[in-house]
Amino acid sequence: MNIRRIGAAAAAVSLALGLSACGSDDGGDGGNQLKVGIKFDQPGLGLKEGNEYTGFDVDVARYIAEKLGTAEDDIEWIQAPSAQRETLLETGQVDMIVATYSITDSRKEKVGFAGPYFIAGQDLLVRADDDSITGPDSLDGKRLCSVTGSTSAQTVKEQVPGVNLQEFGTYSECVSALVSNAVDALTTDDTILAGYASQDQYQGQLKVVGAPFTEERYGVGIAKGDTEKCEQINEAIREMISDGSWDTAVEENLGAAGFTPGEGNPPEPDACA
Ligand code: GLU
Repeated sequence: MNIRRIGAAAAAVSLALGLSACGSDDGGDGGNQLKVGIKFDQPGLGLKEGNEYTGFDVDVARYIAEKLGTAEDDIEWIQAPSAQRETLLETGQVDMIVATYSITDSRKEKVGFAGPYFIAGQDLLVRADDDSITGPDSLDGKRLCSVTGSTSAQTVKEQVPGVNLQEFGTYSECVSALVSNAVDALTTDDTILAGYASQDQYQGQLKVVGAPFTEERYGVGIAKGDTEKCEQINEAIREMISDGSWDTAVEENLGAAGFTPGEGNPPEPDACA
């Protein structure tokens, strides 16, 4: 175990005991440590480049963290792939998840959600020269890619029975497969797809079909039953929307991809159960 992990373990113990982080040895600045799960490979939403973390989800997480009393330097960013999000929360490896995480009834059996803070919709990403795919109805005989543990994979299996679906661990793996002709389309949220389509390295090669067929309500994942934390986060989301920070974050992170939020945005958070 290296020093960092010992520090993290000490922080986890002091949190578990309900002690403040003051006097712990993990940095010595007396801050409130927060472990936040994000995506590391979704440009515009959650992206890690070296030690830089950018994206709309990252900005939402930073805003909430500040309202919860955590300085930016006291946030520990942890990769939260789609299929691992519930487990990361259930085992306390993260305190909250802001990672294009749709609120669903089946996930609510294991974890809690604040929000929603954004409404997205499932869509399709195809090669720029492909006019044969216009929506879920035109996927017969096509090779489709999505991610294990996502609502995207589940929905497409339900809506297009018998679809030829390849499931990877991350969406960036699907993008590589699409560009190299190993699959014909990638399906997930329009936000995520817009981010990939606008990346310099794929300029002119990819396009979003632009006909969303689900409603994805992005929530902030927290431990199940933590109503107090849920209320605090909902309050932070309302403030982020009312003081203009939400608009700024959308523009700064998704504007370059030409993405504008669809109907229902910005949303009003659900009541905390
Ligand atoms: N929002 C969908 C979900 O939570 C798809 C995006 C993702 O996998 O992060 O499953």
